[in-house]
Amino acid sequence: FNSLSDRLTATFKNLGGKGRLTEAQIDGTVREIRRALLDADVALPVVREFVAHVKERALGEEVSKSLNPGQQVVKIVNDQLVDILGGETRRLHLAKNPPTVIMLAGLQGAGKTTLAGKLARHLKSEGHTPLLVACDLQRPNAVKQLQVNGERVGVPVYAPHPGVSSESESVTGDPVAVARDGVAEARAKLHDIVIVDTAGRLGVDAEMMQQAADIRAAVEPDEVLFVIDSMIGQSAVETAQAFNEGVDFTGVVLSKLDGDARGGAALSVRHVTGKPIMFASTGEGMGDFEVFHPDRMASRILDMGDVLTLIEQAQKSWDQDEAQRMAKKFADREDFTLDDFLAQMQQVRKMGSMKKMLAMMPGSAISRQQLEQFDERQIDRIEAIVRSMTPHERNAPKILNGSRRARIARGSGVQVSEVNQLIERFGEAQKMMKRMAAGGGMPGMPGGGP
Ligand code: GDP
Ligand code: MG
Repeated sequence: FNSLSDRLTATFKNLGGKGRLTEAQIDGTVREIRRALLDADVALPVVREFVAHVKERALGEEVSKSLNPGQQVVKIVNDQLVDILGGETRRLHLAKNPPTVIMLAGLQGAGKTTLAGKLARHLKSEGHTPLLVACDLQRPNAVKQLQVNGERVGVPVYAPHPGVSSESESVTGDPVAVARDGVAEARAKLHDIVIVDTAGRLGVDAEMMQQAADIRAAVEPDEVLFVIDSMIGQSAVETAQAFNEGVDFTGVVLSKLDGDARGGAALSVRHVTGKPIMFASTGEGMGDFEVFHPDRMASRILDMGDVLTLIEQAQKSWDQDEAQRMAKKFADREDFTLDDFLAQMQQVRKMGSMKKMLAMMPGSAISRQQLEQFDERQIDRIEAIVRSMTPHERNAPKILNGSRRARIARGSGVQVSEVNQLIERFGEAQKMMKRMAAGGGMPGMPGGGP
């Protein structure tokens, strides 16, 4: 058995290059990704569309300095996967006027009744006072099963006939009425959330879908969660589509993620319905429940956590090279002006965290204390001040006398004291540049501290 990582590593070996990714480079990697997605049981039409997207994105991209083309395609795939899986990850919508009604829908055996208990436990731990409502009157013992789960998590259950408990006895009654009564009960007893468990069938059928739609119409839920077994594989697409059209759910719960399934169903469902995946169910215990994490799911689907780690490392070392290159450039300058000062501040800000960058600069010319004092928002003010100076003033800050400083302060809308501070700081930076230049600006130089 060859894992995707092994296969990709082999592909990477033969890939080198500069400029844009070539179509051939992309094709080789994309072929492996395609196989991995199919292995993970992502539905074929979804795989096709996904791969086409990735190819398009990859073709337009420059080869990054830190990654080889193969790694770069993998990164694009992973980013795309996380985007799709997590595009709209969100919390439950709670009703303005309680109770919030959450309805569960899905095939029989998907894990609805189990999830009902888990969700009740989770919400209770957040300080809510949920009520479970048993509307599966189809399957013998379904009401009892919910009652057991309710007991396990210490949450009350509203059921049609309190007495029903026999294994063989099927409860008769109208699930729509039970749902409605359950919500009324919650309102009367001041439960702030109602979780409505419903019946499912082994396959999608019109009668079941109608019942779910009727319950939905009767209780107007704030959320309809579609529970889907992550082992369902290729048929995830049709099932999700049927429920999306038949009941129109608002969110998805993936169940049985503790099993062998690679989770391709997540991608399929998300892709065909566009609905957010909100929770994951990961076992038979009431605590086996998580908020859904798109990044974890992406690496599970592609089974390439180790490749991604390699990519991260490659990028990190590139960041360091870049920081050293910048430091050398700083150091080579002799005529460091206020314009340079501003340009460098802007450049550093563009690259992300100022503090991180400064910390990576060799030579320890900047003290820890200076780092702590640095505030990135000040860059805007510095920019305003420098922009209010004439070109001549920027090149020769020595000429900045009192009246010039006052004019600059007025022009940039700051106090004169801030202009003074900037000039002082610029003076320090200039000295630092000279020191670094004297030290040759070599990476890894022992500290040229004050
Ligand atoms: P429902 O028909 O949709 O209500 O599904 P159930 O909640 O009755 O679950 C069907 C079966 O799957 C039961 O045996 C559950 O114990 C089991 N099950 C549900 N969720 C999970 C899960 O996340 N992991 C595992 N391993 N089993 C689960
Ligand atoms: Mg059930």
